[in-house]
Parts: sequence; C-alpha cells; structure tokens
Amino acid sequence: MADYNRIVVKVGTSTLTYGNGKLNLSGIERLSMVLSDIANQNKDVVLVTSGAIGVGMSKLGFKERPYDIGLKQALAAVGQGLLMQTYEKMFAEYGRVVAQILITKEDIFLEDRSINAVNTFNALFKHNVIPIVNENDTIATDEIKIGDNDVLSAYVAKLIKADLLILLSDIDGLYDKNPALEDAKLIRRVYSIDDSITSAAEDTSSILGTGGMRTKINAARIAMENGILMAIVNGSRPDNIYDIISGREAGTLFLPDRKL
Ligand code: ADP
Repeated sequence: MADYNRIVVKVGTSTLTYGNGKLNLSGIERLSMVLSDIANQNKDVVLVTSGAIGVGMSKLGFKERPYDIGLKQALAAVGQGLLMQTYEKMFAEYGRVVAQILITKEDIFLEDRSINAVNTFNALFKHNVIPIVNENDTIATDEIKIGDNDVLSAYVAKLIKADLLILLSDIDGLYDKNPALEDAKLIRRVYSIDDSITSAAEDTSSILGTGGMRTKINAARIAMENGILMAIVNGSRPDNIYDIISGREAGTLFLPDRKL
C-alpha cells in the first residue's frame, strides 16, 4: 500500500448541489469530515471545488445558467463567498481552518507566479490549513482560463508535487462506453491513455451532451505524466476517499509508470 502524503481532492457541482441548485449540506459536511480526518493523519490535503456559479444562481434566483460570460462571472463572484462560508463552517466543526486560493492559468505557467503560489500552499500546510482552490472566474476568461476544474486540479497536483489526485464525480468511475447502456462496464485500472480510453470518454460525451469524462481523461494524462496516481470515484460516498488511500478497490484508478 502506498503512503500518500499530499492529496488533492476535486469535487464537482453535481456532488455539491442538488438538481435544484441548492447546496447538498449533508454531502458537504461528510466531505469536510473525511478531509479533516485525513489531514489529522498528518497528510497535506487540498480541496479543488466547483459550484460557485451554481450557488450564485441559487442566491440570486436564476433558474437557468446564463450564456453571458460577464453574468456568469458575476454569479461566480456571489457564489464563491457563500461556498467558502459553508466550507469554513463545516470544516470548523472538525477543528480545521480553511483558506481560499483563486488561481488562473498564468499563476501556474508563469514561473515567478507559480513559485509564489507554491510558497503559499506550503505555508498553509505548515500551519495545518486546508487550501480550497477554484479558478479565479472574475479575471479568468477564455485566454487565461484553464477552463474546467478537472484539469485545474491536475495542474495544482503537479504544482505542489502531490502524490494522489482524487476526482469526486456523480458516477462510479470511467465506463467503457455510454454508462446509460446496460452492458457498459466500469474500467477499474488504466495504465495508459490509449484510443480505447479516449473513445470511451468521447463516444459517450457526445451522446450525453456532456464533456464530463473528457476533461477527466485530460486531467489523468497530466497526473500520469507527472507520476501522480489519479482516481475517479463517486462523490456521493466520500468514504471512497478512504478506500483509495488504503488501497481498497474503488472507482477507476489511473496508474502512473512508477505505480506499475
Ligand atoms: P462532475 O464533474 O460533477 O463529476 P460531469 O457531468 O462533468 O460531473 O461528469 C460525469 C458524467 O460524465 C457522468 O455522469 C456521465 O454522464 C458522463 N460520462 C460520459 N462518458 C462517460 C463514461 N465513459 N464513463 C462514465 N461517465 C461518463
């Protein structure tokens, strides 16, 4: 069993909110408990969170996600604070302090900025604080946007030299075809991102009208290239995080060369 010391967990909107856009408080509470518990085992933990636009929509009474970029950014600005307020409260119940880190592509790819970011992460770990990361939607539009939090979480894992990246999804892992089909099978282990893997993700994303798995495969490519184990597990059961850490079977594992 590998001993993971630095773990990045990414949580998607579908795990954080109900279909009506309101926060899934019990889900967030369980996630906060598991991450605090893991941090108590002297492991560095980072949470990459989506959900700011959804929370902003709910707060301002929007029923549908707007197309206008400026409006989406405004909703994210409203939602981000509320989301952090919720995390702060939940993590505090388990004795943990959290910090907000909002980043853009440039903060990761420009050397002096990335050094500043790493220094901040390290100082937070030293003081037992759990960093909660999101893309800085106020200033990041297309050119400087990483675009989705799956890939953002992989870059964060690379930046801080994490050894494990866990993506919490609304599904048990990567299926070999459209998961809505009866004969679709869960893929347990991926050793390289070959055509069969990209087509499993792409095939279904067009049918279902979601890029959900495509961005996760892109994240896996970055993780694997950097020697980081990545897992996709169902976020409706945060205990899956324990399973991955202790080497029990859960979700889909993407194994970098060094783990073979
Ligand atoms: P989140 O990022 O919140 O976990 P997404 O909707 O972005 O959610 O991604 C998960 C979704 O990807 C699944 O619910 C499923 O509908 C879709 N999907 C597309 N192709 C596949 C596949 N091959 N295996 C599993 N899920 C897939």
